[in-house]
Amino acid sequence: MKEIEIKTTLEVFDSFEELPDDIQELMRQSMDARDKAYAPYSEFMVGAALLLENGKVVLGNNQENACYPSGLCAERTAIYYAGASFPEVPILKMALSAKSLKYQLLTPTPPCGACRQAIAEYELKQKTPIQIYFMGETGKVVKSESLVNLLPLTFDSSYL
Ligand code: ZN
Repeated sequence: MKEIEIKTTLEVFDSFEELPDDIQELMRQSMDARDKAYAPYSEFMVGAALLLENGKVVLGNNQENACYPSGLCAERTAIYYAGASFPEVPILKMALSAKSLKYQLLTPTPPCGACRQAIAEYELKQKTPIQIYFMGETGKVVKSESLVNLLPLTFDSSYL
């Protein structure tokens, strides 16, 4: 037996204001989408804004359901819409913001495991990385140059 170490690299911005202007704009759109989320059960609102190579921005937010597993996260709502509407257009950047209606969320909130897997599929499909920025309601913002940094040992079609 030997131990292996897996390293990942992320960048941390101290605040929204520290982000480049274009990312601030994308994050603002993510926040607008977040505030329209349908989350009556968790009261945890998430928004996603995807910048595509053709300049279009695709938005998503979480859509909950009384039958909990029937709901869907913001990230997958957005990425599946992008995949359905612009199947040949690469996704360049993704801005994610989250907010709780029960407390002030200061922690950057990463995509859940299922969404990471879904985003991985699109990176592999388009063969270029997707930059991901994520934050809570306010406070620090984390940037990942690629989904791979958030999901080491990614399961992909090579295993099938
Ligand atoms: Zn998710």
